[in-house]
Amino acid sequence: MSERGAIYLDHAATTAVDPRVVEAMLPYFGERYGNASSIHSLGREARHALDEARADVAGILNCSPDEIIFTSCGTESDNLAIRGVARLNRQRGDHIITSPVEHHAVSYTCEQLEKEFGFEVTYVPVDEYGRVDPGDVERAITERTVLISIMYANNEVGTIEPISEIGEIARRHNIPFHSDAVQGAGSLSLDVRELNVDLLTLSGHKFYGPKGVGVLYVREGVGLLPIQTGGAHEQSRRAGTENVPYIVGLATALKLVEGRREQESRRLIALRDRLIDGVLSSVPHCRLMGHPRERLANNANFVFEYVEGEAMLMGLDMHGIAASSGSACATGSAEPSHVLLAMGVPHDVAHGSVRMTLGRENTEQGVDRVVEVLPGVVERLRAMSPLYAS
Ligand code: PLP
Repeated sequence: MSERGAIYLDHAATTAVDPRVVEAMLPYFGERYGNASSIHSLGREARHALDEARADVAGILNCSPDEIIFTSCGTESDNLAIRGVARLNRQRGDHIITSPVEHHAVSYTCEQLEKEFGFEVTYVPVDEYGRVDPGDVERAITERTVLISIMYANNEVGTIEPISEIGEIARRHNIPFHSDAVQGAGSLSLDVRELNVDLLTLSGHKFYGPKGVGVLYVREGVGLLPIQTGGAHEQSRRAGTENVPYIVGLATALKLVEGRREQESRRLIALRDRLIDGVLSSVPHCRLMGHPRERLANNANFVFEYVEGEAMLMGLDMHGIAASSGSACATGSAEPSHVLLAMGVPHDVAHGSVRMTLGRENTEQGVDRVVEVLPGVVERLRAMSPLYAS
């Protein structure tokens, strides 16, 4: 339940900022407002907070603080990783490997590199659950491959990708490997050594931190061409005065979720499975999307045949239930989800997609309420559908 009494099932879109995070941020808007590059004591105070935040994030990622770059969001981190590595290595090669289920922050960046800089992009297929086969990644590698980018966990269907295996392959071939881990923080391990990644993206607002702040981990020795020009911030890899309050907020939030990760994941898995079982057993012509086991603790994604996902969302909203029809970015678009299409879901069925992503505030009662309300919402919409009637 959110504070307004609604049942919020859209944690993959964003989360409420933890009050402890707000408290940690506040001094850096007020009395500690210094610029972290200034020499005076106010500046040094800001620098100290920045250094601490960097060390905290590095501790959780099991890397060195120098390998952490703070950015303005997950989208920027993805852009910097992909454009930065690809363009730096343009003389060496012009081939990128990615998947068709990536967030648009990755896929549109790859498309732009194709159109404007002459790169060739290979999209390795996914199976019916949205999972990449590491063998396909290896087979796609050529002498010209300069980057592999495969997400850690899918934001729409929650499928977890075999990142560590893909990373091993990339390392064997000496190709930088980036993974968008925006949806993984708080429920999956972010240990970059275990994951065999060279670059990793995080975004503060997905784990009870503020919007507008992100992280890019870049392994030492991996070169990057900056995409912004300006000051020498972030070791000349990302120009722009560091957003100290937001960075402090992100690091505080990450520490808090990491501290309860296993406990909270277990709780969410139980809630998720209660929701999945409840919906599948009470609504006919409904299927679970994504991997049955290798999926995020908080993700349940369904397709309801003979209904429009958007209409479902409005129907649920009338009962105070906030869900989503896939990626928040795709909402309002007439096109069905590119993720579901890549998984082989037919166009008309993909239109009936509803994503429910659980979080801290959700309870068994809330889940039971959803299971109680949902069949009626589907039934009413189907009653209006000429396809269902026939
Ligand atoms: N990557 C994934 C997988 C996401 O789910 C999102 C946000 O929905 C992003 C990247 C973009 O992050 P941000 O909203 O911080 O730009």
